[in-house]
Amino acid sequence: MKKNMQRAMDRLDIDKGIRYIIRQLWKHNYRTAFSCQGGVGHADEAHVTYFFNSGDGWFEKKSFEYGFEIMPRNKCCSSNEKEGYQYCSRCGAGLNGHVAYFKPRF
Ligand SMILES: [Zn+2]
Repeated sequence: MKKNMQRAMDRLDIDKGIRYIIRQLWKHNYRTAFSCQGGVGHADEAHVTYFFNSGDGWFEKKSFEYGFEIMPRNKCCSSNEKEGYQYCSRCGAGLNGHVAYFKPRF
């Protein structure tokens, strides 16, 4: 990984276990928001969020190859959306212009 990209990830405190995917997203012009590698010491499954309409369409096509699935919106999301959250605290769906993908654990 290039030094400046490494430093940006350090500054943004991006989890080591998810940097491979963030690196690819940045290369494809996605504006990433919240991300987490999931697992021990972390809240839940690995997930990445990015701004709706950013990127070149690469991840929408390739996400399954990396084991990621889009998190669809659910009934629980509307109250969190009104409060301005980037993602739903209940189901993890992206809100307010964000798209969320997660990687289920098997
Ligand atoms: Zn929800």
